[in-house]
Amino acid sequence: MSDNFDVIVIGGGPAGYPAAVRAAQNKLSVACIDEWKNADGSPVFGGTCLNAGCIPSKALLESTELLHRAQHEFATHGIQLGSIAFDVAAMQKRKATIVKQSTVGILALFKGAGVTPLQGHGKLLPGRQVEFTAHDGTRRVLQARHVVLASGSQPMELRSAPFDCRRIVDSWGALDFDAVPKRLGVIGAGVIGLELGSVWRRLGAEVVVLEALEQFLAMADGQVAKEAQRHFKKQGLDIRLGAKVTGARVEGEEVVVTYTDAKGEQTVTFDKLVVAIGRRPHTKDLLADGTGVVIDGRGFIEVDEHCHTAAENVWAVGDCVRGPMLAHKGKEEGVAVADLIAGLYAEVNYKVIPSVIYTAPEIAWVGQTEEQVKASGRAYKVGNFPFAASGRARAMEAAAGFCKVVAAVDDDEILGVHIVGPMAGELIAEAVLAMEYSASTEDLQRTIHAHPTLSEALHEAALNADKRAVDCLNR
Ligand code: FAD
Ligand code: AMP
Repeated sequence: MSDNFDVIVIGGGPAGYPAAVRAAQNKLSVACIDEWKNADGSPVFGGTCLNAGCIPSKALLESTELLHRAQHEFATHGIQLGSIAFDVAAMQKRKATIVKQSTVGILALFKGAGVTPLQGHGKLLPGRQVEFTAHDGTRRVLQARHVVLASGSQPMELRSAPFDCRRIVDSWGALDFDAVPKRLGVIGAGVIGLELGSVWRRLGAEVVVLEALEQFLAMADGQVAKEAQRHFKKQGLDIRLGAKVTGARVEGEEVVVTYTDAKGEQTVTFDKLVVAIGRRPHTKDLLADGTGVVIDGRGFIEVDEHCHTAAENVWAVGDCVRGPMLAHKGKEEGVAVADLIAGLYAEVNYKVIPSVIYTAPEIAWVGQTEEQVKASGRAYKVGNFPFAASGRARAMEAAAGFCKVVAAVDDDEILGVHIVGPMAGELIAEAVLAMEYSASTEDLQRTIHAHPTLSEALHEAALNADKRAVDCLNR
């Protein structure tokens, strides 16, 4: 095998592997290095997303949502099941199968595109050389015309509640519980904390979520956050806001957590504790001295708007650079960089990156929240449509939540779309496309939506922005 490549990608997660595939599609010679090993020691591509993030969490969310519906909803449909049992081991096995199918799929993609997969550690040396240390310890120095750094991120640890990997775990650990903890503590009411809290709550755990901020889901539209919080409360998620965790200690089979809130110091005891306070860029042992790549004060690799680092022909994409830590953001950066390397046009539109929280109801948004538009001073209008008025949502027994469109008064441009309700993560795609093309609410209003579909809710919300909705009161 040659030691010279047009492109070497370090990291085979959702930012790195698409960069490698696209670069190979662009007729460049490509190697992708990844060091991930699963708990059983098997090396796999796919990074956090496939092995310990997006995919396993969605697999468990799906299983537990089905259980919840069987327990609480099927009777409404006239379906009587008698007693309903569940098997955590079977859920975990199904999850593992899905993860495996996905990671094996990457190797197939590499084979099809002609990417050389290298499993082990990659380290950038000066002059775009890359030291590759295979899992068996053998070392080679490779040469590249371009290097793409896609080394991802890792869970942040709370110094006062260090992981012990048994009682105090990170999100990966919380995806792998083999039994339902009776009392589960979650630190952080962010996306990951809420998704994992939902999984174990649906399986019967008493879940307490401790969140330092006073405001729930501060990054989401205020109206959406309020609606979601109401539903989570009804589901029995005990979300305590303004609760800053100050310590956690394992005592026998329990974890004792201390936190401060408006009333002073509090103590709460759990069987397991998940620390979900965010993720930080992972760049450990990635860069030798003298590469010219700069790491910023927060640990991210510094890049310009095209994901180019301070070193010539060295690029960086995904969670290890600025911007939202989302798989689809990393993927777009990866393919854009691979196209730029090949001399093609590419650009990532950071203004229209969708965010999704896969709880029930689902939450999804793109663009600016109403609060952000208000703060910008631009005159705006809002259109809302409740899923309670959607025939399809009612037929699905999922008539909770709403669609909300925020648009400019001057030129009618859509500035943000916010959805809390059934299939919000799928529905948001239409809003993303609309905003990518700088659509106005009138464009959405004049677009025919099939009936009866959930997507009509977005159509009606756009109409409601001009108080012309047909299927709800125009308030
Ligand atoms: P990673 O996926 O972290 O991949 C980086 C890879 O590089 C890893 O395999 C790592 O081992 C390897 N690597 C690092 N350094 C080296 C080196 N020096 N040599 C060789 N290999 C190296 N995002 C979403 O968009 N949707 C979701 O639903 C979602 N759910 C999530 C749920 C959970 C529980 C978690 C934890 C995250 C979730 N995310 C989700 C976030 C998403 O997983 C990340 O944004 C995404 O994985 C980032 O992709 P990446 O390729 O930048 O990094
Ligand atoms: P995210 O960044 O979306 O993953 O969310 C992480 C959440 O954890 C944020 O809402 C933080 O406010 C919260 N958080 C961080 N540190 C603490 C802490 N010590 N106690 C409680 N919540 C915390």
